[in-house]
Order: sequence, then C-alpha cells, then structure tokens
Amino acid sequence: MNKNSLIYIAGHNGLVGSALTRCLREQGYHNLLFRDFRELDLTRQAEVEKFFEAEKPEYVFLAAAKVGGILANSTYPADFIYDNLMIQSNVIHQSYLHGVKRLLFLGSTCIYPKEAPQPLKEEYLLTGPLEPTNEAYAVAKIAGIRMCQSYNRQHGTDFISVMPTNLYGINDNFNPETSHVLPGLMGKIHKAKMNGDPTVMVWGSGKPLREFMWSEDMAAACIFLMNVDRALIPEDSGKLFNIGTEEEVSIRELAELICEVVGYRGELRFDPGKPDGTMRKVTDPSRLHALGFAHKVSLREGIAKLYQWYLNH
Ligand code: GDP
Repeated sequence: MNKNSLIYIAGHNGLVGSALTRCLREQGYHNLLFRDFRELDLTRQAEVEKFFEAEKPEYVFLAAAKVGGILANSTYPADFIYDNLMIQSNVIHQSYLHGVKRLLFLGSTCIYPKEAPQPLKEEYLLTGPLEPTNEAYAVAKIAGIRMCQSYNRQHGTDFISVMPTNLYGINDNFNPETSHVLPGLMGKIHKAKMNGDPTVMVWGSGKPLREFMWSEDMAAACIFLMNVDRALIPEDSGKLFNIGTEEEVSIRELAELICEVVGYRGELRFDPGKPDGTMRKVTDPSRLHALGFAHKVSLREGIAKLYQWYLNH
C-alpha cells in the first residue's frame, strides 16, 4: 500500500475495524473508505456488487463479521453461520472481480480443532472436530479461509487470512450477556465496585487458559501483513497467519488482574453452571514473527488503557 492507496475497511465500527482505522490514519494512510451498516448491508449481494463497481478499492481489510462471546455463539448459531458466510462471500468475490491488489480476511483461532496441540499452529486447520460452543462461527470462518486460498489458486489473487487470538480494546462490547470475557468481566467488576457488592460471579471454573491481545497491536500486525513483500510470504503457508502474543493467563488470573486495575477488593465466585469452553487456546505466531512483527502492549497495560476508555465512555 502507499499512503494514497484507496483502502476499504469493511466493519470499521467494530473492535478490529476501528483499531485498523485509527492505526491506518496514524500511519498516514488518508484515502480510507467505509460504509455504515445502514448504507451498505454486506449480507446483500447486489448492494456489495454496486459498492465495488462504484468505488473500486485497491486494498480490502475484511473485518466485518458477526461476532460474540461463548453464550451468544451457542445461543444464535444460525445467525453466526448465515451472516458470516454471506458477508465474506460477497466481499471476497467482489474483491476478485474488481482486481483488489490484496485482501486481508479476519478469522479467529476458534477455527482450530478443539483437541489440537497447543500452541496452535496454522497447519492444524481441519485436522479434527471443532469446539461445539462456537462451531457455526468457526465453520463460516474456515470457509472464508478456503475461499481466499481457492481464489489465490484459481485466479492468482493475493488474499491473506489472519487468525487473531482473543482481542480486546476500544469500542469493545461490555454487555454482560454477549461480550467476550475480558470486557465482560471489566464491566461486571466495575459495577460491583460502584455498588459495593461483596462478590463478583465469574463464569465457569476459572481454569481455562487464554491469550489476549490489544486490538491496536493486532491492527498493526494486519497493516504490516498488508505491506509485506509477496515474495517473502512462504509458499507453503497458504497465506494463513496466526496473530498472538504467546502470553497465557487463566481466567482466574485475568479476573484478579482486572480487579487490581479497577481497584475492586471483593471476592471472586465461580459459576460452574456456565461453560468453560475450550480449556486452552494459545497461538503460535512464529510465522508472523519470522517476517519481523512484534506486539507492544502487555496485558496489564492494555487492561489499564481499556479501563480508562471505559470510564470516559
Ligand atoms: P472463548 O474464548 O471463545 O471461550 O470465549 P469467551 O471470551 O466468551 O470466554 C472465555 C472464558 O471465560 C470461558 O471459559 C468463559 O466461561 C469464561 N468467563 C468467565 N466469566 C465470563 C464472562 O463474564 N463473560 C464471558 N464471555 N466469559 C466469561
């Protein structure tokens, strides 16, 4: 990309899309293209066709998706599979038809098999059954990866897929029912502090291990990959890259860290009635790191930044 390239950010209001937009602007990219959901419904083929025909973006970050935490995923699987298949099929196909120079498709590490060895390597894709709580979402994302690879093979496109670890950051979803764990717990712990509640409920056993990345570190990785010389991307990579920090914490440790940052001194209680999901999910981002990328924000720093943002909004 050069600073004048026309860059479309699909999903610019979301956690990743908004981080991408901020980082692109900071790096001097000024020719950015967005559409609100009300102006362009990406699940509708004709609307997406018309948009690409009119705008002809040179680069596409496909960060538009229906996303949610463990409860939302297991409650609304039809919405997760339908919306994601439609959005990505429309955007990927139109990007091919309109000669987009490079597209970056965003997935998630939940595409890897439930019992895959950890840390997760890209080559574990499609080697076993998925975690049932978010299978519908994962199947849609796997279809997106295979779609990018198939277009690369058949049409010579340059479509890259990235699988970020659990992300958190500005514009996160703090709704206790539909959020992911980090903002979900932050919202609950903050309210408990404000109300003087003696306890906070943490779902599951507190034992699952997760890796978290600040959304702007992830955005920086995406911009980095958008600019990587095609010749440096290994032939056998399938243009698939994990994005992660390799820093693991248990849900209990995460909850304790949030309590520290928020300044809550009550007690954590664990609710075994809620699902743990997969017990360990940590990426092996060495393929990305080998190209020269490193993240910057530690978990403690990121939680403090997010809490500041939460307080101001
Ligand atoms: P996952 O990483 O795809 O499993 O999705 P989540 O971020 O929703 O959940 C991660 C882990 O945190 C699971 O073991 C949850 O049971 C646990 N957890 C504990 N408290 C909460 C909470 O308040 N919200 C969410 N979403 N998860 C929680």
